[in-house]
Formats: sequence, structure tokens, C-alpha cells
Amino acid sequence: MTDPSLTTRHVPADLPERIQHYIDGEFVDSVDGDTFDVLEPVSNEVYLQAASGKVADIHRAVQAAKRAFAEGPWPRMIARERSRILHRIADIVESRDRRLAELESFDSGLPISQALGQARRAAENFRFFADLIVAQSDDTFKVPGRQINYVNRKPIGVAGLITPWNTPFMLESWKLGPALATGNTVVLKPAEFTPLSASLWPGIFEEAGLPVGVFNLVNGFGEEGYAGDSLVRHPDVPLISFTGESRTGQIIFGNAAPHLKGLSMELGGKSPAVVFADADLDAAIDATIFGVFSLNGERCTAGSRILVQREVYDEFVERYAAQAKRVKVGYPHDPATEVGALVHPEHFEKVMSYVELGKTEGRLVAGGGRPEGFEFGNFVAPTVFADVPPTARIFQEEIFGPVVAITPFDTDDEALALANDTKYGLAAYIWTNDLKRAHNFAQAVEAGMVWLNSNNVRDLRTPFGGVKASGLGHEGGYRSIDFYTDQQAVHITLGKVHNPSFGKAAPAETATDLDDPDPR
Ligand code: NAD
Repeated sequence: MTDPSLTTRHVPADLPERIQHYIDGEFVDSVDGDTFDVLEPVSNEVYLQAASGKVADIHRAVQAAKRAFAEGPWPRMIARERSRILHRIADIVESRDRRLAELESFDSGLPISQALGQARRAAENFRFFADLIVAQSDDTFKVPGRQINYVNRKPIGVAGLITPWNTPFMLESWKLGPALATGNTVVLKPAEFTPLSASLWPGIFEEAGLPVGVFNLVNGFGEEGYAGDSLVRHPDVPLISFTGESRTGQIIFGNAAPHLKGLSMELGGKSPAVVFADADLDAAIDATIFGVFSLNGERCTAGSRILVQREVYDEFVERYAAQAKRVKVGYPHDPATEVGALVHPEHFEKVMSYVELGKTEGRLVAGGGRPEGFEFGNFVAPTVFADVPPTARIFQEEIFGPVVAITPFDTDDEALALANDTKYGLAAYIWTNDLKRAHNFAQAVEAGMVWLNSNNVRDLRTPFGGVKASGLGHEGGYRSIDFYTDQQAVHITLGKVHNPSFGKAAPAETATDLDDPDPR
């Protein structure tokens, strides 16, 4: 019998059969000719071969980017010129949003409606940084009678961008936008599970008029000897912007250390959603359902631990489980689908192992396996565990799938202790109608981002980043500009030059601190 997934899946028209690297304006194979299989998550069939980059391919890409930085027009353009090209990129992405969403959904298993939102967000990322770079001004300091000091902001060089598979195209744009806006050249290493949408960047950039060599793309794995690791260790790459697992972040931190590279790390999470008894329960349930099951639960800021005050706990659990059972699992290409297929069989196995573990650690109230009618591919039913103790692994560890742990609490202090009781600190969601409590909780919770009575909606000007094992540094708004630029201080003397009188036999007691105002 034919596998039902093969007859029911949607295969986009004009799919490539192979994906190459893109270096110095040309599509090229790996130097050693190596490739790897790419699967789509509804049938887990191999549907294309992608070039597998290694040390030599990264070296070629870095040399091209280095040349474009040293000799090309991009870093030397005035901001307005770069901004125009970035706006053109945003226009092209917008005009192709449906095709992008179709490919992304096919490759990653994300529901098409959500992939479409991600494609539009990618365009917005370029637009935002295109605008920001022309509005950028830098500090000037006057020291009356002595000096003017000003900041000379400069692009740094070749930025290495390493991205995960959960919202591939959008997360690539989140790094490409500011790295390019500030005049750097780049080498992008997309996630090996989902290389399809990244293969569209070269065409988009060429059409928008980005100069040759400014953008380079090397596909492949991350581990030692492969593309990701080689990019991190390359001596001519002074910056690495990484999004991925906390464990990978630690390895990259170590490998970048000998070169003292600039690092921005957006890492894993196990974020709490805290629901107090006085909250608007309807709104809290809707938001916490969306918070953990949208993007298939493969969302770094997922509110995957829900802490609920005892007075409303039973009602919350009952209503939450009932609503979770109604979340529509379906084919990624179906516009009505709310949860699609997990990205890859390896990840599916990982998530399912947590589902089985959860059955021994908590009380299963929804899901718990494959959804009915989807006994193939990487489908997992929205799964809810109640009464989960804080020592449970499903409470502590990032699952990165449609699985949530619910735990009761009694007092504010207990809620805070539970919220902070993991190694992660990316996001926190708080539901209460008590303003004072909301703000006090927000100040005390160990999280880089807090949403009060709010869904996960974010203005691009705000800082994005986590604390503890969830990240290092912040991007977003001007913080991204800071990460991708050097800030050189230039000091100009006005009027009389205050030279220390060394070697002129001036009496020591006439020296003032003005002669050496910064004795470092
Ligand atoms: P991952 O760490 O396995 O891989 C991420 C990228 O790093 C991939 O491109 C991979 O090939 C590469 N890589 C792996 N080992 C490497 C090495 N030694 N050197 C250099 N590169 C290497 O992560 P993933 O499974 O692709 O993504 C899921 C993770 O990403 C989750 O933990 C999630 O929370 C996190 N994430 C965080 C954010 C955020 O903004 N904080 C956003 C999205 C995803």
C-alpha cells in the first residue's frame, strides 16, 4: 500500500533538486563535491541534495566577503544608498511572500499561515534596519576650551551568521538586516534541516542590487570540521551572530575565544507563563495556548511552563486541556492548520521521548502521541501535562515541541521561585489584573523579555535577548547596530595643545591633572 503521506502531501511546483553554496556571486558545489540529504517532514522523504560545506568552502566564502569588504563599494556607501538597496530587498521579499511561505512550510513543517507571517516579518526586518541606519546619529562630546570628541562608527568586517531551523528565513533576515545595513559583508550558514528558503536569498539580493561578494552562503552541518564550526574558527571572521541551542552556544563560545570574536548569542528557553487567580482567564488561556502551540511549539520564547494559582488551577487545567484538544493539527500547506509537522525525524524522536517521560512525571490531560489520522511523518498532538513537579525534566528542559507542563502555586513568592527555577531566562508571561503585582513580578523574574497580560508581540526597537543560559548580549533596534559596528572615539584639540612638559625640565609640582586627565 502506498504511504498515505506521499499521496496527501503538497509538493510545491519548481522545487530544486539540489542546492549549492553561493560564493562571490556564483552558485558553486563544495570543493570536495560532498552533499547531504534534505527531508520534508510530512513523509520524511529525501527531496533534495544540498552541498555540504567544510573548511575549504568556508575559507572561499570568507575570502570573497573579505575582498568585498576591503575593496568593494558596500562599506563605503553612504547610509542612504545602502538603505535604498535594503528597502528593495524588503519589497522583493514582500512580493514573493506566498512562494517563500510555501517553500518554508514544505521544508520545515510550519503551518502555511504562520510561515506567511514569518516571511512578512522578514521583509519588515530589512525595512526596519534600512530606516534605522539613515536615522542613526552618533555622540559628540564637547570639552569646553579643550577638545571635541566624536564617535566614528564603522562596520567591522566579515560577519558570520549561524541560524537554526525553527523559523529559518525570518531568523536569517533578523541577522542579515542589521549586518548589511551597517556595511559589513557576510557569510551565512543556515540550519542543515531547512536550507530551502535560504537558497532564495541570492536571487533576491542580486535583483535588489547588492554588490557581488557582500553576501555569501555556505550550507552544511555545524559540527567540528563542517561549515558552522569552520566559520566560528576562521581567523578573518571577527563577529559571530548565533541563534540555536544553549549547548551549541557554549561550544561556539569556547571555539571563538582564541580569536576574541564579538559574539551575540540567542539561545534556548523554558519560559514561564504565570497565571494569577485575578487574571482574565479567557485571555490567559487563549494566549498561553497560542504561546506554546504556535510554530509547532518550536519557538524559543514558548511559554512552555504554565504556573497557575491554586484557586483557579482546576478550572484552568480543565479548560486548557479542552482547548488544546481542539487545536487543529494538519498538513502544513492547509491554511486551516494550526500545528503542522515537526521539522525532522530526529527532532520528532526527541519530542516523543519527552512525551513518554512526561507520562511518568505528570498527569497527561491532552495529546500524548501522534494525532489521529497522522500516523506518518513528524506529527505530534498538542500535549498537556498537569501537576508537574518542578524537579521533573519536562519542567526543566527545553522540549521545543507542542508540549506544555502546568504546575500549581499558592503565593506570589512561590510563583516567582518556580518561575526562576530553571537554567534558562529568555521570556516570561504574567497574567494578573493587579498592576503592582504585575510590575513587581516583572522586575524580579529572571527573563530577558517580559509580557504582562500580553501575547508574544514585539516591537523591533526593543531589546531582544535572554539571561542565564538563554543568551549573551542583546539585539534589536540600536543594540543590533552596536553589535555590528565598532565605535571609535576621535579626540580633537581646540586651541592650545596641552602637552605634558616631559623632557623640558618642567618642575614636577607644576603638572596638573589636565596634563593627563585619563591616567590609564
Ligand atoms: P542548534 O544549536 O542545534 O543549531 C543551530 C545552528 O548552529 C545550525 O545552523 C547548526 O548547524 C549550527 N551548529 C551546530 N553546532 C555548531 C558548532 N559546533 N559550531 C558552529 N555552528 C554549529 O539549534 P537548532 O536545533 O537548530 O535550533 C533550536 C534551538 O534554537 C532551540 O534551543 C531554540 O530555543 C533556539 N532558538 C533561540 C532563539 C532565540 O532568539 N533565543 C530563536 C530561535 C531558536
